[in-house]
Amino acid sequence: MRVLGIEGTAWAASAAVYDDAADAADATDSIFIETDAYQPDSGGIHPREAAEHMSDAIPKVVETALDAADGPIDAVAFSRGPGLGPCLRTVGTAARALAQTLDVPLVGVNHMVAHLEIGRQQSGFDSPVCLNASGANAHVLGYRNGRYRVLGETMDTGVGNAIDKFTRHLGWSHPGGPKVEAAAEDGEYTELPYVVKGMDFSFSGIMSAAKDAYDDGAAVEDVCYALQENVFAMLTEVAERALSLTGNDELVLGGGVGQNDRLREMLREMCDQRGADFYAPDPRFLRDNAGMIAVLGAEMVRASDTLAVEESAVNPNFRPDEVPVSWRSDSES
Ligand code: ATP
Repeated sequence: MRVLGIEGTAWAASAAVYDDAADAADATDSIFIETDAYQPDSGGIHPREAAEHMSDAIPKVVETALDAADGPIDAVAFSRGPGLGPCLRTVGTAARALAQTLDVPLVGVNHMVAHLEIGRQQSGFDSPVCLNASGANAHVLGYRNGRYRVLGETMDTGVGNAIDKFTRHLGWSHPGGPKVEAAAEDGEYTELPYVVKGMDFSFSGIMSAAKDAYDDGAAVEDVCYALQENVFAMLTEVAERALSLTGNDELVLGGGVGQNDRLREMLREMCDQRGADFYAPDPRFLRDNAGMIAVLGAEMVRASDTLAVEESAVNPNFRPDEVPVSWRSDSES
């Protein structure tokens, strides 16, 4: 089966073709992905501009992906949410039109579940705890009784968005995460808040405190270093508690912030100390990408989890625990 995936929740206008006939262990390595990234002229992601980017870029990336496909397409999968409403509606319209034109099934994929499923499938782990550290979200998830349950999550802003808001204050261009990572290499620790409440974390206070520390004269490298140390330790603490709570010994990372070496180092160290296994996908599958949409889309088609066009409305607030997991053999347990 050959599935066309289309991603467009925020900044990445992306299309991919996944051919599950190549179901060797490296099948996902051979996925064709074409992405056209929206880059704001200044400030952060502007929803209207991002949607205009989707309108321009989605037809082009889809055409490139279809040209690269080695044969006909059997299904069209799209990111149904969560994400920016104007972007989702553009991508949803494109996916519906394509599915109808090609006369193939339409699949609505939850973007956050796709972030974790690509890691689960590539790792070969059975039922891992999943840390999704992305721009607009931060979740720790565990699978139970047919759903990915949210064990911990942000109480305010997404983790990447918090870092990006801090760098916007410095006048640095979007995205801020890689720039903070580079600056932190020359930094030392300076005091910043650390906020974990129960199994949840909060990033807005630390982001404001980082802005204040910089305004009060702290070296920018030191603020970047402390921001990374605290934010990533918060994520690592909750991921460890989730492993402990569930008795699980497998952890998978997902989301664009997962491209950060220091975060991966902390998680790997924590897993090593507990005797747990850790897996982080290749960066092209961590940041937003249509490959993960096509791979989960193929699983959903196999489970007959497809959508009638008239029931395919997008959902900007689509939570991962709203998704009945139809594609796992133990989904009825
Ligand atoms: P979501 O998946 O929740 O919709 P998103 O659409 O913003 O989030 P992602 O691609 O998952 O997209 O993540 C983008 C975020 O990743 C941005 O906030 C960016 O600053 C951050 N990021 C990218 N590279 C790094 C890095 N090396 N270190 C830290 N953060 C990073």
